[in-house]
Amino acid sequence: MRAVSPVDALIAFAFLAAPAVAVLVALVIAGALDWPAALIAGLVISFLMGLVLRWHLRRVATLQQAIDALGGDIEAPLPTAHAQRTPLCPGLDAAVAEMARERRRQRHALQETVASGEAILTALPDPLLLLDEDGRIVRANPAAMEAFEGPLAGRDLPSVLRNPALLAAVDGVLQGDAGRVVEFTRPGPVAHHYSARLARLPAPAPDGTLAVLALHDITTSKRIEQMRADFIANASHELRTPLTSLLGFIETLQGAAREDTDARDRFLGVMREQAERMSRLVKDLLSLSRIELHEHTPPRGSVDVSALLHSVARTLEPQAREKNMTFVFDAPDVPAVAGDADDLAQVFQNLIDNAVKYGRAGSEIRIAARRADAGSTLARRLGRPGVAVSVADRGEGIAREYLPRLTERFYRVDAARSRKLGGTGLGLAIVKHSLNRHRGLLDIDSPVGEGSVFTAILPTAGESRSDPSDKK
Ligand code: ADP
Repeated sequence: MRAVSPVDALIAFAFLAAPAVAVLVALVIAGALDWPAALIAGLVISFLMGLVLRWHLRRVATLQQAIDALGGDIEAPLPTAHAQRTPLCPGLDAAVAEMARERRRQRHALQETVASGEAILTALPDPLLLLDEDGRIVRANPAAMEAFEGPLAGRDLPSVLRNPALLAAVDGVLQGDAGRVVEFTRPGPVAHHYSARLARLPAPAPDGTLAVLALHDITTSKRIEQMRADFIANASHELRTPLTSLLGFIETLQGAAREDTDARDRFLGVMREQAERMSRLVKDLLSLSRIELHEHTPPRGSVDVSALLHSVARTLEPQAREKNMTFVFDAPDVPAVAGDADDLAQVFQNLIDNAVKYGRAGSEIRIAARRADAGSTLARRLGRPGVAVSVADRGEGIAREYLPRLTERFYRVDAARSRKLGGTGLGLAIVKHSLNRHRGLLDIDSPVGEGSVFTAILPTAGESRSDPSDKK
């Protein structure tokens, strides 16, 4: 509290007392008052004036204290407007109290705004960096600290992000460009792609911030974009190969081999094979796109797995017979599964067809279905009771490192072998997406030299999920 100094008080007293003293002196000079009476009157007036001045100065000091508090502790008590008025300025207490109240309201509003700005910055899932005029990081939100591992405030931007295109854009914005958008890749064990938005503030903020750098991780969409491009390139390549071969044969048949009936029969045979290959590919592409389209709509029907397995196997018997292979069934009384019969027929067809293609000639293919009752490991993985359908062949098996990629479109362990056997490279991708739609799982166990077991695990019809968090 800044009290009124004694000198100031004395000067104020002298100013207040001066008119009364002048009147008393004038009265004495005029003979209307004698000196002793004037002295007594002067003393009484001074005493009373001193009392009033002291009281007034105390109120002024209290007001001063309240005004000082406006700049610091906004919770300091307000001057009480009605209890003690400042006698010389009766409205002053109330005005100061009102001012203090308004100021307090504004400070509270400001604090709330700052707190909500802070909360937004903290909750923002994308990294955000605030930069000063030298490109130094003034502040970073938690998402940025997580992405760039560690405290960032005070660091130069190039020590965190070294991409030249980004740094050039930052320089441009700090030098006056209104805003820029830059895409860049941050190398590392796992490369990340970002879209960076830069904006310049109209004037530097009190903390020195002049530009805002907001980063959005576009790694997933880039990957999807790449996958789409790869898919189109692969599909075109797969179609172009038989097409080129067909065109070549057509040209030969129209030219050199026009009259050669032997060659014509042979060529027509090959042409038929190539056309069939294209037809299989188009059929698989259409299946895949249809399944993907409905992947998020679970099927409503219920399917008798055992009957479906027998019917699918019957259609593949000619191929199996050609390789002298036999189907052995072990599908006792299993409950119906929740699913779409056509989709599941294709799943089983692809698995059994692969077993025929990649199994050893003369060997057995075991087709089994067993219950995965509540409490079993499989049911726990599925999140509800189910049925596990497995197709086991006696082929060469698949080395462990290839297993994670088997369900990718067009991925083959041995592309030439797959093509020779009529494969499209899409069979297991169709299986995976179809099982996704059925909320099922695919297990692959394929010890090299022993053979492969592909197991589709499907939820039993009419069973609801026990624990949605179980399934990955
Ligand atoms: P493809 O049309 O080439 O058979 P798939 O998507 O059905 O395509 O299978 C992908 C790859 O997985 C195959 O090319 C093959 O290398 C491997 N594969 C699939 N099933 C088996 C199996 N039963 N035994 C050995 N390898 C298999």
